[in-house]
Amino acid sequence: MRKTLPIGPDLHIGDGSFVVMAGPCAVESRALLDEAADAVAAAGAGMLRGGAFKPRTKPSSFQGLGPEGLRLLADASRRTGLGVVTEVLDPRDVDLVAEHAAMLQVGSRNMQNFPLLREVGRQRKPVLLKRGAAATIDELLHAAEYILNEGNEAVVLCERGVRSFDSSTRYLLDLAAVPVLQRRTSLPVIVDPSHGTGVADYVAPMSKAALAVGADGLLIEVHARPDEALSDGHQALTPARFAKLMTELRQLAPSFGKQLAAASREAPRRGAADTRSFDDKVIAP
Ligand code: PEP
Ligand code: MN
Repeated sequence: MRKTLPIGPDLHIGDGSFVVMAGPCAVESRALLDEAADAVAAAGAGMLRGGAFKPRTKPSSFQGLGPEGLRLLADASRRTGLGVVTEVLDPRDVDLVAEHAAMLQVGSRNMQNFPLLREVGRQRKPVLLKRGAAATIDELLHAAEYILNEGNEAVVLCERGVRSFDSSTRYLLDLAAVPVLQRRTSLPVIVDPSHGTGVADYVAPMSKAALAVGADGLLIEVHARPDEALSDGHQALTPARFAKLMTELRQLAPSFGKQLAAASREAPRRGAADTRSFDDKVIAP
């Protein structure tokens, strides 16, 4: 049985709804964030994404605005009514990020950061756990167990592509992971076609493919001006392309037994989701 998790104000995942989380890779400025947030809200996204703490391969790359980015996200959340999903990199920042976000993202680089997994397991917000770029499905499930074992059972898994020999795409988006994970666990599974392909042109086709293979939602990067983005501009959709994709997904979803989930237009309530109310076994041995 698929698990239905509350992941924001009046928003559930895993209940047959298809939840699209969208926004910029990184929060860069209030103006750019607001433009992207307004666009994704208008197009019917379920949640706003955006990184305040960015895990960058090179230390000289833009590292995110940190706490100021969290404040901008919280403001955008209040304005649009969209709950925020944002990455936490450091176990010491978990409480701060949880104060501002509806959902905490553990990124691919931290999938096996066990102290961080335990720490997000101890707080009460839902967690978006991304598959490591070189992690097996078993390793992803074991990482999820670290969170579940601390008492937080609101874990959403995210397939975001694995490394391969082929550089035609940034990573190899493993869509077979969706049915495999759904056989092994009742946790919701979403797909990130932005990092999974690294190319804006491939995001729409792979989004539709993710819907078709039974994913519970998507994580998509949208930037008001992708050419000027400080990170991942090459894979970001413009607001117009995102709106077109959302229209297509809305039409396609019923054919796959899904309904596109829209956020409630009310301002998010703090601490709305109780993540500890599940007691059945969520990962098969
Ligand atoms: C992101 O979602 O911005 C991100 C850094 O993703 P990943 O951890 O999958 O690389
Ligand atoms: Mn990114």
